[in-house]
This record gives sequence, structure tokens and C-alpha cells, in this order.
Amino acid sequence: MTSPSLHILEPQIPQQRYSCNGCTNCCRGLVVKISHQEMTRIAREDWNLNQPTHRKLGDSWVLNRQPDGACVFLDQSGKCQIHTRFGMEAKPLACQVFPYTFRKEGDSIRVGLRFDCPSVARSEGASLKSQTREIHQLARKAQDEMPTWYGHVRLRADVDNLQEGSQRALRVVDRIMCEGDPADSTPSERIRNTAFVVSMLLRAKLGTIDEDDFAAFVELVAESASSATEEMSAGPATVRARRLLRQLVFAHVELTPFGKTESRGLSRMRLIGQQLTQGRRFRIGRGSLPEISTLDEKTVTFIQVETVKPARGEEATTVGTLISRWVRGRIACGSCYGGGYYGWGICEGLGAMMLGIVVASWRARWLAATADRDRLCAADVVGGIGFVDRVAGRVPSLRTRAELMRMKYLMEEWRMQELLTSYPLVEE
Ligand code: SF4
Repeated sequence: MTSPSLHILEPQIPQQRYSCNGCTNCCRGLVVKISHQEMTRIAREDWNLNQPTHRKLGDSWVLNRQPDGACVFLDQSGKCQIHTRFGMEAKPLACQVFPYTFRKEGDSIRVGLRFDCPSVARSEGASLKSQTREIHQLARKAQDEMPTWYGHVRLRADVDNLQEGSQRALRVVDRIMCEGDPADSTPSERIRNTAFVVSMLLRAKLGTIDEDDFAAFVELVAESASSATEEMSAGPATVRARRLLRQLVFAHVELTPFGKTESRGLSRMRLIGQQLTQGRRFRIGRGSLPEISTLDEKTVTFIQVETVKPARGEEATTVGTLISRWVRGRIACGSCYGGGYYGWGICEGLGAMMLGIVVASWRARWLAATADRDRLCAADVVGGIGFVDRVAGRVPSLRTRAELMRMKYLMEEWRMQELLTSYPLVEE
């Protein structure tokens, strides 16, 4: 039952807008998990769709997909057949709430936003402020169904456990990256300064020093960030760092084609062999990018991708705003640490978030190269951010110990700064 005193923590992303523009991106690219009750209801309805409406995926029930990857219920005209026949309320909860996310934090529900929705990433439509009533309604509905809906997700009341030092770390990152501190800093400087702060925090090992000392250390590091990054101008990334980055990009690709998740025996072995080969080609980074079955795109070479130039002019301004909004969203919505990110600590989660910027930059270059462009535009970066947000905190492949080690290695020394030099989003 809904608690009458339910406290809802709304997304604090100034000027953020969102309205569904019917692009059907979410009905094509995402796996829609459904609860047991939803599965039973859909099974009772009389659907004649040439294929089963749902299937088992691991421990969960999911809606089936058509051969082109679209949801089984998406019709030729881009309309949801459940919606058309029974109305919005009859759709699976996952569809009703997208692109919002709802996470329990003690007695509150924290509302988040997914930037893999292009409307959210471009901040198009009505202001979030004007949609408070709808957001609260969705939060209450999500809360009512949470026990079944989130049955597969580990819930943690992380904010209850946040200490002063960790909160200070989040505020400092938000201040440098999203509010712009120093005031005249460029988008590139903000990203570099934030990366510097986060890598220093990772070195400090939160939890091994006194909270007050840590909070003071955070401020000290923040104060020295811009002079440190100015003095130590970073060169290009090493071969090893680039390889690790490409591996990380590959880890963001949905590896198993939907229809093959339950393959067994020889076909399973073939699938694993194919994934290993693709992963190795990404690591080596020579020749053409392997064809990824879940990304229906023209084949391009690694050189084409890695030589795409950063955005400039107005496009660069839009990219700078987008990255700031995205980082603010990840922090304000609690999706970069704790229950929002595989149970990782604040500093580790911030490290993964900063690397996510470089992953988004690489994917944006990939999209530009696919469209035969040699310079990034804002639309590429929208796609790159969506590529990261689609899976970050959601897929098991990014939760592993190997990923934690990779993040720490790339955030150590001056490596992150070098990656930012090699794959800049905007022209200096
Ligand atoms: S059920 Fe409807 S809204 Fe949900 S993914 Fe399928 S087509 Fe889209």
C-alpha cells in the first residue's frame, strides 16, 4: 500500500525539460522487464502477434522482440498496441515510468532521469517543474509495485549512510562540473578539473581517514584543481590506456543478441567465441570495427573513429551544457554510487562516471564516423551519453571486479587527463 507520508526526492536538474516526442527509441532499444502479475495479465489477453508476447530472460520475464529488435507490441505505425487497445495504464510499469527511475532511499523515493531518452538528453518539452504532479503519481505507483518490480535489484538506503565527507565530495564535483568553478572555466577545463579531483579522492581511500579530515581534503583538492591541471598539461594517452578504454566501450555493447540468450551447446559456444573475437578486435583496435549485431550500423575503421575532431562553435556550447546536465543528473539522482551503481562507493562511482564521459566521447566519434563526418556534433554526443546511460548501473558486465580494477588504473596517475586529451569532446 502507498504510504501517505511518502517523501519524494525530485531530480534537481535546473532547466531540465522532458516530454515524450514519440521517437519510439525506448520501444526499440531496451529490454522491457515485466513483473509476474504483468506477465500473467498479458498472457490472458488475446494477442495474435505471430510470436509469443513474452519470454524468460535469466530470472526475469521480459517482453519479446521482433526480428528488427522492436518490442513485440510496437506496430508498423510506431504505436504501442497495448496502449491503443487498453490505454496507458495497461502498459507494463517499466514503459509507463520511462525515462524516470525510482529508487528507495530509507523512507523516501529518489526520482532519477535516464539520458538514453533523446528528449531528456536534448532537454526538450515541458519543464520538469511543471510535471511535479505526474512525477509524484508515477513515484507512488512505482512504490506500490516495487516489491515485484524491483525484485531482481539490490536495494540499499545509501543516503542514510552518507557521511559528511562523501556529501562534500559530491557537492564539490557538482560545483566544479555543473555550476562552473572557477566561473570562467571552459567545458574542457571543467571536465579536466573534475577528473583531477576524483582521481585524488580515489587515492585518498575514503573510509581510511577521519571524516572531518576527508572533508577538508576534498576542499583542498578542489582549490588546487585548476592550477594543477594548467601546470601539468597532459600528453596523448598511452597505447595501454587506449586499449583499456576500447575494452570498456565494448563492455557497454549489449553483447548477447536477444533471441540467442537461451542458446545451448554448439550455438552457445559459437556465440561466446564470436564475443571473444569481437572483444579482442576492440582491444587491438586495428582495421574495421567488428559488426555488433545489436547496433545496426555501417562498418567503419578504428582510425576513422579515433581521428574524429571535437565539436566547435555552437555545437561545442551545446555539448558542454549537455555534459554538465548529465553529470548533475547522475549526482542528484543518486545513480552514480551505492544502490544506483552496483553498490560502489562514492569515489569509485564518481570515477566510473568520469570514465563514462570518455566512453561517451568514443561512442560519439563512432557515430560521427558512421555518418561520414570527421567532426563531432551535439547529436553524436547525445547518442554517446545515451550509450552509457542505457547500461551504466544496469548490466552485469560493468559490475565485475575487473571493471573496478580497470577504473582505478585509468583514474590513476595522469591517465584520465591523457584520455581527455586524446578524445576531447569540444575544441579548446
Ligand atoms: S509495451 Fe508498448 S510502450 Fe512498452 S516497449 Fe512495448 S511498444 Fe513500447
